[in-house]
Amino acid sequence: MTQFLEVEIHEISTISAPLTMEQFNEWFDKSPIKARFKKACMLAQGLRCCYCTRYLDSDSSKKWDLEHVLAEKLYPQFFATIGNLVLACEDCNLVKSQKDALVDTHERPPTTLPPHPDDYVIPHPILTEWDDHLSHTNFMLYQPKSLQGAALIQMCGLNQRVLKQAGLSPESVATTAAENFFRIMQTYIPDDIRQETALDLSAQLIEAGENQRRNILLEKLRRTLVTMERAALRRNAWPVPKISRGKKSRHREIEVASEAAQ
Ligand SMILES: [Zn+2]
Repeated sequence: MTQFLEVEIHEISTISAPLTMEQFNEWFDKSPIKARFKKACMLAQGLRCCYCTRYLDSDSSKKWDLEHVLAEKLYPQFFATIGNLVLACEDCNLVKSQKDALVDTHERPPTTLPPHPDDYVIPHPILTEWDDHLSHTNFMLYQPKSLQGAALIQMCGLNQRVLKQAGLSPESVATTAAENFFRIMQTYIPDDIRQETALDLSAQLIEAGENQRRNILLEKLRRTLVTMERAALRRNAWPVPKISRGKKSRHREIEVASEAAQ
């Protein structure tokens, strides 16, 4: 699970102390902490959306949304809570919007972030494995393996996109994907292979191709993160070394105070 840096936790506690929750959330939303966290999520999730698992060939923050599993308007107390923050594509984030992912039976409002996968209507991107709940055909057609998987398809409109964008029905997507697979691979595969296996293999091939491109972007992301981590250290380093540590620095502190008084 992606975490805040230790210096960022310190920064958050200092800044949040005098603020109301609304003021703090407003600050966090524009903070360099959120910006770095998003990049760290891109690296951890390998530039794949937490809900549709589609790969996005970009490490631009504008192309990705920091997603609150428990929606920010319904549960502002978890606006900056680790465990509630993941990275989603714009399509999923837009359709999921403020829909409630907490099960009806859970107490409201929850005082701490619900820790169990069954506390959620959908497969929680951090607490569960996506593959246990869903499968996909080339990231266009999604099949549920569980009730939570079915709820996610519904909540993020996963099967609506191809219909909306290309005017294709789910059946025609499956048929086209299978036809393409057999056309390209015909000389390499046994004759009696089933359509479902072909679709699975086709999805795996696409994923493998994307991962090759992705690895180049991830290298760039790692370098960006090092720079952002250094910036976080610099932001928080300033007051610490100047405050009394032994005789010498106490002397310096007095000097600073008298300079300030002048
Ligand atoms: Zn998505």
